[in-house]
Amino acid sequence: MKNQEKIAFSIRKEMVQSNLKGMRTVAWSLMYVSAIISLIHYGEVFFVKAERAMVPVYIAIHIAMFYIDIAVLLFVREKRIHITSVNIQKYEHLVVIYIYTIMLLITAISVMDVYFFHHAALYEVILIIICTVFALPLRKISWIILLSAPAIIASTYLSVGMSSENIKVILPMSLLIPIGIIIQYQTYKVRKQITTQHILLDEEMIKTKQLSELLAVKNKALAEQALKDPLTNLPNRRAFNQQLTKIGHQLHQPQTLTVMMIDIDYFKKFNDYYGHIQGDAVIVKVASLLAEIAEKYQAFVARWGGEEFIMISQHTEKFAEPICEEILKEVRDLKIPHRQSDIVQYVTVSIGMCHANLTMYEHLQTCCDIADQALYLAKQNGRNNYFRKMAIFDGKENASI
Ligand code: GH3
Ligand code: MG
Ligand code: MG
Repeated sequence: MKNQEKIAFSIRKEMVQSNLKGMRTVAWSLMYVSAIISLIHYGEVFFVKAERAMVPVYIAIHIAMFYIDIAVLLFVREKRIHITSVNIQKYEHLVVIYIYTIMLLITAISVMDVYFFHHAALYEVILIIICTVFALPLRKISWIILLSAPAIIASTYLSVGMSSENIKVILPMSLLIPIGIIIQYQTYKVRKQITTQHILLDEEMIKTKQLSELLAVKNKALAEQALKDPLTNLPNRRAFNQQLTKIGHQLHQPQTLTVMMIDIDYFKKFNDYYGHIQGDAVIVKVASLLAEIAEKYQAFVARWGGEEFIMISQHTEKFAEPICEEILKEVRDLKIPHRQSDIVQYVTVSIGMCHANLTMYEHLQTCCDIADQALYLAKQNGRNNYFRKMAIFDGKENASI
């Protein structure tokens, strides 16, 4: 269903639902009215011995109305009714049929007993109730009014007679019919307007909700992107700093930490020889290898910049050294050709490692600086190896190495 059709259907559905609700309200009221009037007529027949011959027929009609109302109350229940585009017309017809049946039955009573104007009064009361409670297009309700109103006016006229005194009764009773029509016209117009506004507002709210959800998803993706390195998909330096802050928050008790600074050997030469695109591919390969190792040891790895990576692990130092060994071996085992390397004919890395027992946030930064110094020493020691430094803080910012 297109959006426009969907909105039109929702309006129609809400109108039908409110009419079905109205049907129950009218049924409750008429059920009591029919019961009371039937009792009154019984009284007339058995106690007053009234001479109006049609009384048993009125009773029968009121009993019929009583059962119709009972049926409405039993079967027209909101919880049971599920209005769809297929059955909506059925329910619209049900409302119209109910109104027509009630009004025709009352008209029938009036026609049968034209000299008794109370029937006409009852008709008018019911007409006003129906016009107030239901909201139907005028063409739907006007047919039944056209059919029944002349009979009712005639019945009123015949029962009271056309004298100047009785015109006081006939005139207001005649006027009630156009008043009913005006009420119905207004009820329908206003209810349709309110329903339309309500549905459109709902639609807007759904759209706004969907948009804000989309915005939240995009914002999340953006926030994630802002923390990712676009080439390697590894966390970037900003994400690394966030990780440091996170560790910093745990420093209410001393934490052991190993920082590893990992740098590809002779990478400038690699770029010069193989070109930058090949160089990028090497960075991506080394990055994904480091990501795997980090995941295996529950460490955190980020691209520090260029062809340098940083890994932090909260394992003990003994455990961190085998990780360094593993990284060196796994990178060599990638067997990425590097003819310009002075060490082996493959791409290798060097690692500077700092291990420390931290108690202050400032220690974290110092630890990274020391790892960087250790990397420099690993390079000086011939590359394709790691150099380890211990930092002892003694509760102060400065470290003795
Ligand atoms: P060393 O063994 O001492 O680390 O030597 P190196 O040549 O690797 O060291 P250096 O830091 O002098 O060079 C790093 C090079 O990495 C410089 C630059 O051309 C290259 N590089 C940095 N970022 C990128 C990148 O994103 N893609 C590519 N292809 N190259 C990069
Ligand atoms: Mg390098
Ligand atoms: Mg470098």
